[in-house]
Order: sequence, then structure tokens, then C-alpha cells
Amino acid sequence: MTKKIAVLPGDGIGTEIVAEAVKVLEALRRDFGLSIEMEQALVGGAAYDAAGHPLPEQTLALAKAADAVLLGAVGGYKWESLDIALRPEKGLLGLRSELGLFSNLRPAILYPQLANASTLKPEVVSGLDIMIVRELTGDIYFGRPRGIRILENGEREGFNTMVYRESEIERIGRSAFDIAMRRGRRVCSVDKANVLECTELWREVMTRVAKDYPEVTLNHMYVDNAAMQLVRAPKQFDVMVTGNMFGDILSDCAAMLTGSIGMLPSASLDASGKGMYEPIHGSAPDIAGKGIANPLATILSVAMMLRYSLNQAELAGRVESAVNKVLDQGLRTADIYTPGMHKAGTAEMGDAVVAALR
Ligand code: NAD
Repeated sequence: MTKKIAVLPGDGIGTEIVAEAVKVLEALRRDFGLSIEMEQALVGGAAYDAAGHPLPEQTLALAKAADAVLLGAVGGYKWESLDIALRPEKGLLGLRSELGLFSNLRPAILYPQLANASTLKPEVVSGLDIMIVRELTGDIYFGRPRGIRILENGEREGFNTMVYRESEIERIGRSAFDIAMRRGRRVCSVDKANVLECTELWREVMTRVAKDYPEVTLNHMYVDNAAMQLVRAPKQFDVMVTGNMFGDILSDCAAMLTGSIGMLPSASLDASGKGMYEPIHGSAPDIAGKGIANPLATILSVAMMLRYSLNQAELAGRVESAVNKVLDQGLRTADIYTPGMHKAGTAEMGDAVVAALR
């Protein structure tokens, strides 16, 4: 059956990198039998300029009707003074909540060819391949009550509420275990169960979910230890699953183990496996329009789309191998360039990946 993909380039380098990812999808359709339809729409600042809103109705309808969404990035200096409700980032947040995307997958993969880009020793990070599964719609970021109140003595007090329902924990747990089944079959659940009742429940529910996945090994780790282990011996991890706040912090830490923001994809999934796929970086207004942005994070987001929403694991592997091949050939965009390599622009890198698919 033909799958529908909503293509939302967004702002800044978004349009440049998404164009390269689309080239890859077109090559897969033309040469490898991938049955897809793609339709583009505006989001972010570009949508505000054209339609007065960062997430126009038409874009939302397209995203809702699609099997998967490919997003570039949103934002830029031009829109920074807009009212907060109309800022480009609202387009992104609106898509996440309207599409019910509760499971955020952030792989941290270090390509051996780029081991020198990491601030950690090559032997610590070379071959690193971690998947962080972060719950995206609950936790202290959304819990109520919240606010700043004035105490009897006139002092102000800020407060937030960490809250998770069993059903929310179970849902993200299943997402993580399902992913572990397609990878190394190990899940590390991160919590602070020694101090926070909310995460005591988290641990209990994760242990219960694990019983349905006898082939997957589950271990639990306190978040402070997890942060330490990520920089001490990160290769011990396969899949890490955690709540919204811990995941926010740990996924950025894990991403930076690889040292190259232009290489890292992400996925946000709903309960049925539909997802939005995007690079972890932003719209990079400092280099927009120069044709030098690294398109590989977006191309690798296409690989995640093939694997998680389109059920095309073989083609996903093909795209990932093609990226490996171009790195082996010595092609490097400016952000990952080291002397002796061949410096490539955005389009040259995209074309090289397309050629390496065969
Ligand atoms: P950024 O990720 O856009 O850029 C940080 C640095 O990394 C810049 O020096 C940039 O040139 C470089 N960089 C990023 N992606 C690159 C790529 N593919 N190739 C080469 N170099 C790359 O973060 P920022 O500068 O903090 O934010 C810029 C804008 O992007 C802001 O408006 C911000 O709100 C927005 N933003 C959007 C998203 C998103 O759409 N998901 C995420 C983060 C930031």
C-alpha cells in the first residue's frame, strides 16, 4: 500500500537539508520499489510569513492524514520578537501534541570515521550505538499544580509537580521494549526511585512490562549514576528509557558524546507507530543559504522513518550503509571536516548518499 509522507522543510537550513532527504526517498521509490507519496507544506516562520500562523490548518491536516512526517527545522532571528504564541517553535510543539507523539527516540551513534569529533577518548566512544527513549508528553513539564506563589512571610516559592500515570509509564515502556527487540535486547530504565515516589511507580511498572518481553534484559539505574555511566562507559547501553525531564538532559548528553550535531536523527512516535522524523539540530540561521549544512542527520531521520513507521527495515539499513560509505569515501561537510578529507557541500553530500544506495 502506498504510504503518505508529509514533508515540512521549515526554516533556515531546513529547506536545504530536507531537499537532500527527499532525493534519497525519491531514489528509493525509483530504484528500490518503495511505494510512497510525498506532499510538502509550510511550518514555522515560513508558514507565519505566508499564512500568519506557524502551524496553518492545512499543514496540520496534511500531517494528520500522513503515515509519517519529515521535518527539517524551524526558527530564526527574523521571528524572535513575535508574540510567543506565533513563534516558529509553536508550530513544532503544536505538531507534537496534535499528533499525540509521546515516544521520543534519540539515537546516539558514533561513526568510527568520526571518532575524533568526540571530546571523549576514541576507545570510549568508537562504535557507540545507544537509543534513548524519552517520554515526551508527561512528567514535571506538564504536571499540575505548578507556578510561583507568595508565602505568608512574603517570600516567593516556585513549584512544579512530577506526575506519571501507570498507563503512561506502561505505554512508553512498551515502546522501549519493542525497540529493544529490534536491537540488542537490553533496556536500562532510568529513575530516581530512592527519592521520588513518582519514579518508584515508574520502576514497578517497568518491571511488570518486562515480564511480557522475556527475551529482553531489563536493568534499573538511578539518573545520577546514568549520567556518570554515559560519560564513563557509554557502550554498556543499548536502549535507555526514561521520563521527560531525565530524558531531556540525558539525551543531549548522549548526543554530544558523538560530537557532531549534524549527524543525529530523531523520531517521535504515537501509539500506532506513526511518527515525525527530524534532525536534532535547529535551523542554523548562521549558515542558512550557504549550501554547507550537513544533510546526514535528516537523511538518517529518513532511515528511522523507514524502520519505525514504514516497516522497511531493509531499506533503512541500506540508507545507513550508504551514509557509512560516503564517510568511508572521505566526504565531509564543514561541521565534521578534518584536514585530508574532501570538503563537500549540502547537495554534493546528498548526491553521494543517493549514489551509494546502489
Ligand atoms: P542550531 O542547532 O540551529 O545550531 C547550533 C550550531 O550548530 C550552529 O553553529 C549551526 O551552524 C550548527 N549546525 C546545526 N545544524 C547543522 C548542520 N546540519 N550542519 C552544520 N552545522 C550545523 O541551534 P541554535 O543556533 O541554538 O538555534 C537556531 C534556531 O533553531 C533557533 O531559532 C532555535 O529556536 C531553532 N531550533 C529549532 C529546533 C527544531 O526545529 N527542532 C531545534 C533547536 C533549535
